[in-house]
Amino acid sequence: MVRTRFAPSPTGYMHLGNLRSALYTFLFARANNGKFILRIEDTDRERYVEGAVDVIYRTLKSIGMDWDEGPDIGGDYGPYVQSERKDLYLPYAKELVKKKKAYYCFCTEEELQQRRDEAAARGETFKYDKHCLHLSEEEVQARLDAGMPYVIRQNVPEHGEASFDDVLYGHIAVDCSDLDDMILIKADGMPTYNFANVIDDHTMGITHVMRGNEYLSSTPKYNLLYDAFGWEKPVYIHMTPIMRDATHKLSKRDGDAYFEDYINKGYLKEAIVNYVALLGWNPGDEREFFTIDELIKAFSVEGMSKSPAIFDVNKLTWMNAEYIRRLTPEQFTEYALPYYEKAGVKTDHTDVLARILQPRTEVFTQIPEMVDFLAALPDYDVELFTNKKSKTNPEVAAKVLDMAIAALEALPDWEEQQIHDTLLNLAAANEMKNGTMLWPVRIAMAGKQVTPGGAIEIAVLLGRDESLRRLKAGREKLN
Ligand code: GLU
Repeated sequence: MVRTRFAPSPTGYMHLGNLRSALYTFLFARANNGKFILRIEDTDRERYVEGAVDVIYRTLKSIGMDWDEGPDIGGDYGPYVQSERKDLYLPYAKELVKKKKAYYCFCTEEELQQRRDEAAARGETFKYDKHCLHLSEEEVQARLDAGMPYVIRQNVPEHGEASFDDVLYGHIAVDCSDLDDMILIKADGMPTYNFANVIDDHTMGITHVMRGNEYLSSTPKYNLLYDAFGWEKPVYIHMTPIMRDATHKLSKRDGDAYFEDYINKGYLKEAIVNYVALLGWNPGDEREFFTIDELIKAFSVEGMSKSPAIFDVNKLTWMNAEYIRRLTPEQFTEYALPYYEKAGVKTDHTDVLARILQPRTEVFTQIPEMVDFLAALPDYDVELFTNKKSKTNPEVAAKVLDMAIAALEALPDWEEQQIHDTLLNLAAANEMKNGTMLWPVRIAMAGKQVTPGGAIEIAVLLGRDESLRRLKAGREKLN
């Protein structure tokens, strides 16, 4: 039975890289009829951000990535929050001490700093010098009995090689002489990530570890721990990073790296997930559009890329526009309403708004500037009435507006078909191009040259009173 886990640290919002890790891990579990486990790695209390766990829950849930075991729903391997597992780690560390694969270290921060400085002066990078490994058992016990603060360090062999095989990256080997005796248990009694991930992955029965490739170089050390315990190692699949360009990772500092940023910028979550899924994986055919269920069917590790993908916001925007076009008008309206409100636009005719906006909206945040003329007539120049193709200019416009105002004022109902027929009949009766009639009417009602929708739709949206008020104001301008 495949068991995978997503193990985020609650240190802030959900980075797109994290989202993608979660997604691939989830897809892998589902594609293999396995279990997807959520584990919160909160042992680094200094980086803990209040509310971050909720962001994780909310984001995964909103995308449809349901977990089978996790902090909120429990499971057979709980608790699923590392800080709640705190007491579980020390006995394992002590077991390693007994096996001489780990040792107590009493070096103070000042002592370590001094040795770090000395190493720097020699032009070397400091590696813990195994100072406390050489304390006698009695000495160690005496210090523990005296209540001296300690950490527990891994005892990495001084020579030889540590290695593992990654599904994507192949054989990864490091010289033990390059490895530091990393801390397993910190002075506050908390495990480090380096220790906790091993203990948790083993005790939770994780079969496949999928995570970012920043852990690639540490994994050999983790495997030394598995070996020390005599535990079976999981299969490792380290994932390529998402890049901003050829040399830079998409980083938190760019401000454009978070899932919620894109939601706030008017992107649909389905489009973001679809796009992110394709950053580092491809289905092996030409398909580009996937729902979560389709991703589950199509996903395989073989389709995962070994080279980093570059995040292209234009491609995401294109994809988002495609998703927007596929919404029903009612769904479109639901998403667009807050943006109408932002622009101060109030109308009962959201169907008309959807009709004119949906084909041209790439991201919802573009909506306010497309519709704000409906809320307030912009100040405009009479030169806007000039349009060659529509054969109109201020003089023609004055006549057209006189006729249009008279005809529209006489309308019994302010209704789209009636407005349409009235204006077009008027054009025909006066042997005008439709454009000659519609251009001045639209300019007077919108006060701008480029608008979503035409004169008739705008008239419906403004309503009778406001339409006529604007038409008359336009006519005034032409005196
Ligand atoms: N807590 C780690 C992180 O957020 C997870 C690493 C892992 O999946 O092992 O980067």
